[in-house]
Amino acid sequence: VDELTGTYNRRYFEEQMSVRIEEAKRYDTPFSLVMFDLDHFKVVNDTLGHQFGDHVLRESAAIVRKAVRQEDVLARYGGEEFVIMLPHTDRLGAAILAERIRESVADCTFSRNGQEQSITMSLGSASMPIDEVDTPEALLELADKRLYEAKSQGRNRTIFE
Ligand code: GH3
Ligand code: MG
Ligand code: MG
Repeated sequence: VDELTGTYNRRYFEEQMSVRIEEAKRYDTPFSLVMFDLDHFKVVNDTLGHQFGDHVLRESAAIVRKAVRQEDVLARYGGEEFVIMLPHTDRLGAAILAERIRESVADCTFSRNGQEQSITMSLGSASMPIDEVDTPEALLELADKRLYEAKSQGRNRTIFE
């Protein structure tokens, strides 16, 4: 478990993902991966301080955790980048979830010690079988590519195909 956010860490996520992808293939059920990264997070640290940045990371992870199902696995993948695996969820389901999360974080104002800040995030998803990839690495790579498309198209959006 990641200490700051209480979400799973990358190692646990990758172990689980291999198992769940094998299950999805064996039982022929859909499986999706959502990857997201906070937008312009460096500016938050630079203007409000690292403690405030930590607060935003913790609180936004908490919002996302409340929005996902029990069987979904949310993990901190890097600094301000997270992944969610969604067993039994197809492209449409993943896109709906991603947009719900994006909106709930964007609608939130984070406050601490009299300072206030809102934040947005960009998201990319990849799905089996529709995306014709069937390994953890290929799913991660595709979700990451779409996340960076979301960044380059202006941030605060989801790219799912
Ligand atoms: P972009 O919209 O392109 O993602 O811009 P960005 O500023 O979010 O991205 P960039 O990669 O330039 O900066 C990420 C920042 O996240 C820099 C790093 O210091 C900060 N960061 C990473 N981990 C933590 C953490 O645990 N706590 C805090 N406060 N900041 C962190
Ligand atoms: Mg970022
Ligand atoms: Mg990042």
